[in-house]
Amino acid sequence: MLIRWTELSYPDLGAYRDQAAVMINFASTEQHSLHLPVGTDAFLGAAVTERAAELCHRPVLLLPQVCFGYSPHHRFAPGYVTMPQHLLKEYAVSICENVIANGFSQMFLVNSHGGNQVYLSAAVNEIGEKHGTEFQLRELQYWDVARERISAIRESELGGMGHAGEFETSMMMYLRPDLVQEEKIVPCGPVAERPWFQKDLLGSKAYQRFHRFDEDNREGHIGQPQLATAQKGKAFFESVTEELARFLDYFD
Ligand SMILES: [Zn+2]
Repeated sequence: MLIRWTELSYPDLGAYRDQAAVMINFASTEQHSLHLPVGTDAFLGAAVTERAAELCHRPVLLLPQVCFGYSPHHRFAPGYVTMPQHLLKEYAVSICENVIANGFSQMFLVNSHGGNQVYLSAAVNEIGEKHGTEFQLRELQYWDVARERISAIRESELGGMGHAGEFETSMMMYLRPDLVQEEKIVPCGPVAERPWFQKDLLGSKAYQRFHRFDEDNREGHIGQPQLATAQKGKAFFESVTEELARFLDYFD
């Protein structure tokens, strides 16, 4: 059950303290190649968290999303608003501490932008260190709970589903077709596999490095947007929202 934090009066909100989980989406604002808007991660993050909360059996209080993230890898193209990681980590910790002070005992941080992963993990550790494990805090990238179902739907090989590739483009075609400029899609092959580092939404990376997002395609995408369809977007969207709802209900 979706309940928007900002739409409740304070007595109504307080009444949820014992039963509701709090959820918030951390997104970003940055280039998504020539065919998608710079707000793609925010549009997808909002749609996924709202729908997953609706599908949940338990009440889920949804906080307003955070639209700015860590995106210096995208500075080659206009449209980014990137923040330093230490500020974002402090901001995330502060939001969590407010939720704790409001009397809630469980919270989910749902990430819709890979670049946020490092500071969000640091925030989870810091909250655990300061407040213990009684406050149940979990962080995840929304696609990670649906890896098997996404793999079954995708047509691209590994390397075809990264930034603004088959997955994100399909979901935007389904959710916001008005914002997708299909005629501007630049087709390309899957990103060539590098040893120990697979550039794909579901790829494994044995090491960390900093990379600009125009190093594979100068347009800024990673993966194969030409394989995207609205029908596939519907299937991806249903998979990630159903699996995220299952995840949220599991910890009830
Ligand atoms: Zn994205």
